[in-house]
Amino acid sequence: MKAAVVNKDHSVDVVEKQLRPLAHGEALLKMVCCGVCHTDLHVKNGDFGDKTGVTLGHEGIGIVTAVGPGVSSLKPGDRASVAWFYQGCGHCEYCTSGNETLCREVKNAGYSVDGGMAEECIIVADYAVKVPDGLDSAAASSITCAGVTTYKAVKISAIAPGQWIAIYGLGGLGNLALQYAKNVFNAKVIAVDVNDAQLRLAREMGADLVVNSASEDAAQVIQAQTGGAHAAVVTAVAKVAFNSAVDAVRAGGRVVAVGLPPEAMSLDIPRLVLDGIQVVGSLVGTRQDLAEAFQFAAEGKVAPKVARRPLEDINAIFHEMEQGKIQGRMVIDFARR
Ligand SMILES: [Zn+2]
Ligand SMILES: [Zn+2]
Repeated sequence: MKAAVVNKDHSVDVVEKQLRPLAHGEALLKMVCCGVCHTDLHVKNGDFGDKTGVTLGHEGIGIVTAVGPGVSSLKPGDRASVAWFYQGCGHCEYCTSGNETLCREVKNAGYSVDGGMAEECIIVADYAVKVPDGLDSAAASSITCAGVTTYKAVKISAIAPGQWIAIYGLGGLGNLALQYAKNVFNAKVIAVDVNDAQLRLAREMGADLVVNSASEDAAQVIQAQTGGAHAAVVTAVAKVAFNSAVDAVRAGGRVVAVGLPPEAMSLDIPRLVLDGIQVVGSLVGTRQDLAEAFQFAAEGKVAPKVARRPLEDINAIFHEMEQGKIQGRMVIDFARR
């Protein structure tokens, strides 16, 4: 079977790979599709260490074709996911307290184990999440990473219906955060970005207030027009957005960090203490979060924007990604030639 494998030159080879037999608790997926993520770009570039030989892909959706011994949670014919959170240890304090993505022994698909950017993929059955009927596989692939990440972030923000939530960065992640905040949590959404095209789209998707932070002080506008947001989710990859989010929330507000700029933010300690501001990080989501994120998408509350591409396009897709040319999510469709 064909697989997209990282090579030592930091590009990707589409090679024939032979999978080992299934072990206890594992299942085999015939992959339908797999989204291409910025994280894949970092993995293949060696930004998280040398990953030569690893099959990429953590936004995979496939159909179960075989199950190993001891599998009761999946059966042939089921559709299931290959997510970044591939497997936890199952017994540590994080795994047993609903924080499994923080497991110190976590395995990540397309990074520490072979992922879903291949015609076939081995998964740990109990760690795969079933895709509900009625949810298109390409859309599901986007929910497996961007969707669950933003759904979880909005959940962690503890926003209540009718409250104001500011979303910083309205790219692929932010657009899904907006949809979950608006259509699932019934929040009033403030969209903040430096790009007018993204803001127009945000407005079309139901944003109640849009602010271009390149031309206006976003925190000031938000404070003036709403009295301060109750929460903010920052998907932007810029320190300035994190700093602005802290200034944009009202007393008791919570700022959820999702974007990952490799730098430190400024945090005014009196602001933190006197106004009871909370700043928390959020990393992907648990199996339960993903099941919920899938269900809301299946109900039509959230619709990722996807484009289907053949596996052979993988290096071209990374090139487009590096040039910032990609809108929406590129999804490898294994039926496409
Ligand atoms: Zn991803
Ligand atoms: Zn664990």
